[in-house]
Amino acid sequence: METRITDEYQRVSEEGYDTECEKVANMLDMVIDGEASTEEQVYFNNHLEKCVSCFESHQKQKLLKGLVSGHLKRVIVPESLALSIKAKIQETL
Ligand SMILES: [Zn+2]
Repeated sequence: METRITDEYQRVSEEGYDTECEKVANMLDMVIDGEASTEEQVYFNNHLEKCVSCFESHQKQKLLKGLVSGHLKRVIVPESLALSIKAKIQETL
């Protein structure tokens, strides 16, 4: 029984199951709240550099947090910043 479970787990990993993205998704809240350790932040940032979907969800979360904490003015992004974010996304592709 136990062996079977291990086999299943390994098979999923080999097939490129998005465990890294799940890890990063779990870290997202901590990172945004500034509660992540340095190690976690480094891991998080490294992943964001190569994973556009996590990068985008990070941007969205930051925006949402900003709305919730009432920093509405900070959420209005200047066009130049929006462009540089787009450029960053294209770089990673
Ligand atoms: Zn990812």
